[in-house]
Amino acid sequence: MTETITALRLNGSEKIDPLDPKGSLTRNLAVEEVALAEPGPGEIVTEPLFVGVCGSDNSASLGKSNFSWVARPRTIGHECSARVVAFGPGTEGYAGLQLGDVVTPIPQRGCGDPRCRGCRRGRWNYCPRKQILGFHRDGALAQRMVLEADRCVPLREGLSAMQGALVEPLSVVAQGVLRKCTIRPGDDVVVTGCGIMGLMAAELAKSAGARVAITGIERDRNVRLKLAEERGFTPIVVGPDKPLHEVLRDGVEALDGTRFGDDFENGLVDVLLECSGAPPALGTAGLSVHPEGTICVIATYPAPVTFEATQFTRTGQNMVGVMGSSREDFLNAMLLIQRGIFDADPYAQLYSFEQVIEAMDDSMAARTTKAVLAINAV
Ligand SMILES: [Zn+2]
Ligand SMILES: [Zn+2]
Repeated sequence: MTETITALRLNGSEKIDPLDPKGSLTRNLAVEEVALAEPGPGEIVTEPLFVGVCGSDNSASLGKSNFSWVARPRTIGHECSARVVAFGPGTEGYAGLQLGDVVTPIPQRGCGDPRCRGCRRGRWNYCPRKQILGFHRDGALAQRMVLEADRCVPLREGLSAMQGALVEPLSVVAQGVLRKCTIRPGDDVVVTGCGIMGLMAAELAKSAGARVAITGIERDRNVRLKLAEERGFTPIVVGPDKPLHEVLRDGVEALDGTRFGDDFENGLVDVLLECSGAPPALGTAGLSVHPEGTICVIATYPAPVTFEATQFTRTGQNMVGVMGSSREDFLNAMLLIQRGIFDADPYAQLYSFEQVIEAMDDSMAARTTKAVLAINAV
């Protein structure tokens, strides 16, 4: 007998501008009753416990062109903790999984072909044929979710189910900060973009000993930049006529009262972590960074980026990209949470599943830093 579940469905692909929505921000979404697929071999049935709303969920829901590949209708949601409630044929006990275990799925699952370089290296996120939970198959914003067992990572002991929903976004940032760039004590690091990825990046940069500033646009002043300041990051408001490099050059006062950025070198910084996804932020990023400094890109862009390439070469800067995460990054992220390096509590705003449309609306309107849905959690 097929089970019917309530799920948040992404149906439409109408382009919606969050700053000028001309109607409801959530009009591509609907809460619907759908049939739950039967788990196949290698699959398990889970009950999502806590599910975070991701910037990519927002982008897909706003019909952004970099998510036009997502087939609609689709149940979205990929940042979650979930409890194992049933096994597909022959999957019982897969990798020691037991009924009742709480896991967090790796959203980007590789093709598994031994000839695939990404998969061979254990980097599903860099597999060209990867399948993303909540975009290629139905995801976590539902009462039940069917998953491949091999993408599930058991929650590390000591982590709550709520913290489990933050592991995935933190794992992406952890890849960037722990593995893709070097941040040293005393560095000045600027994070561009104050969504949750930006705020997580700021937390990890701070814990590595850097002084951190974070940028936002005018609408971020009251929520995200305010929280950023409470967390010890210098807030910087940027805009089309106020690019970051000019603001830094004109002088930004850090929270400690001194100048942020190099006071001898136009306010330049050592490392820039680009988490905004705004094309101009990446295009001009090099103008804010020291020669041989690093630009770490943890975002994707809805349009081609015009880039100061000659400046980049002349300054011998480094640029690295970060997309998704692998099992290693998941394990690192869980360690960071368990050891208290990253505290989820200041960032997560809890909503009940009945409030899912409200949570999506708040998230798209940037009224929240991280909307987390409590679905089957008690
Ligand atoms: Zn995500
Ligand atoms: Zn592959």
